[in-house]
Amino acid sequence: MADWEQKSFWLETAGPYEPQPALQGDRVVEVAVVGGGFTGLSTALHLKERQPGLRVAVLEAGVTGCGASGRNAGFAMTLFGVSLTITVLRWGRERAREADQYMVRAVEYTEAQIRRLGIDCDYERHGLLAVAATPGQLRRQREEQELAEAAGLHPTRWLDREAVRNLVDSPTYLGGRYDPLCGLLHPAKLVRGLARAALAAGVEVYEGTPVTAIHPGRRVRLDTPGGRVTAEKVVLATNAYTCAFPALRHLQVPMHTYVVLTEPLSPAQLAAIGWRRRVGVEDGRNFLHYYRLTPDNRILLGGRDAPYYYGNRTGVDRHPGLRAALAEELVRTFPALQGVRLTHHWGGPISATLDMVPAIGRIGPNLFYSLGCMGHGVALTQLNGRTLSDLVLETPSELTAAWFVGRRALPLPPEPIRYPLVQGIRGALRLLDAWDDWRSRRRPVPAGTPGTP
Ligand SMILES: Cc1cc2nc3c(=O)[nH]c(=O)nc-3n(C[C@H](O)[C@H](O)[C@H](O)COP(=O)(O)OP(=O)(O)OC[C@H]3O[C@@H](n4cnc5c(N)ncnc54)[C@H](O)[C@@H]3O)c2cc1C
Repeated sequence: MADWEQKSFWLETAGPYEPQPALQGDRVVEVAVVGGGFTGLSTALHLKERQPGLRVAVLEAGVTGCGASGRNAGFAMTLFGVSLTITVLRWGRERAREADQYMVRAVEYTEAQIRRLGIDCDYERHGLLAVAATPGQLRRQREEQELAEAAGLHPTRWLDREAVRNLVDSPTYLGGRYDPLCGLLHPAKLVRGLARAALAAGVEVYEGTPVTAIHPGRRVRLDTPGGRVTAEKVVLATNAYTCAFPALRHLQVPMHTYVVLTEPLSPAQLAAIGWRRRVGVEDGRNFLHYYRLTPDNRILLGGRDAPYYYGNRTGVDRHPGLRAALAEELVRTFPALQGVRLTHHWGGPISATLDMVPAIGRIGPNLFYSLGCMGHGVALTQLNGRTLSDLVLETPSELTAAWFVGRRALPLPPEPIRYPLVQGIRGALRLLDAWDDWRSRRRPVPAGTPGTP
């Protein structure tokens, strides 16, 4: 993949990088990991650290981090599933609480790994502000807060309009929830750091090595253009790209999320938008907007929609319509930034199961997978690597006992039914967002609405 640096601002700015050579010839290993993103590298590193005698190989189609792991917004956050309300509706409070505990551990684990491995990835923890920008969002955010308290999730705080605007001063904000457990990082530097740690531990990393076919058996054979790998166990750490493998195609769909990036803001521009603490921000839409400051004080803003392309297509890296819509949203949120220049736009594939929660599992005795990491897989995938290593080493643990490990995910139909089904679900969510936006522009917030001064 010659153009990997253009996949994101992060891959462009992670420093000089010399990819590892592609696989040439045949190789026999104990464990082969397909996919060199956060999940694959974390899994391989854990396996090698725990059993140094194992031969572990990572096979990456492009370069490490060229998928979602090197392109995301860099929020290491606790959100599980699409929202707490939906998770509780589908799975109940107890499971929502268990998932929250897993996510809290994931964020802390990510932070600990960054420290332990000495990875310089501009990590900073200031928390996440989930703002309400319409009365509808205000009602939903308050309900989420109340539900989080009732279900015993980790503590988050409700902030009224004034308190929210003291953190970040957008005239659109009506109130919001503050979650102290969210860090911001440079994702491509993290992925590179993990790759370096894996190589140093003795993991073999082959880049430019797409797995083109999997032949299951007592020993699994993987075909690649330059040679074959025979492995006792195989981990498919391909998340949204898993649709390339027919045996798992029914479990997830690749959706896409896109971002825009501004030029660095001047101190005057920063002061005008009152972004006083470097919190990450998201709003309360179904297809939410997420935004943050980069270390050099650009605003990265993403979300608003998550397109699906017919036939499980991945690799649609830009979306002019969404670029324009995100540019408008930026100025609606921060009118003082009228005229600010956008320097970058990119996107990438994320994986959605039918019920929008992740799935880690195995097919047969020796093929393992991780998929369904949507727009909040940064921290989740770091811990999932540990969980997958427990599964591969057959060492049952608290992590492998999590209810979304080894679960039977609801099957999705193949094309041509898949496309209208996914577009139908997506269309309904977009319609609700559009209705909420339209109403809020017609009707101002009534006096006395909780969250308003
Ligand atoms: C624009 C964007 C913003 C996001 N923002 C956030 C955020 O702020 N916070 C958050 O928590 N999450 C966010 N996410 C989601 C997060 O990035 C993902 O959940 C996470 O990176 C998934 O990691 P992964 O390793 O499982 O998959 P990936 O990083 O996608 O890795 C899969 C790898 O497999 C490789 N591969 C595919 N097919 C093959 C094959 N046949 N052979 C060999 N290799 C193959 C790919 O090249 C890729 O490198 C965002 C995602 C995007 C796209």
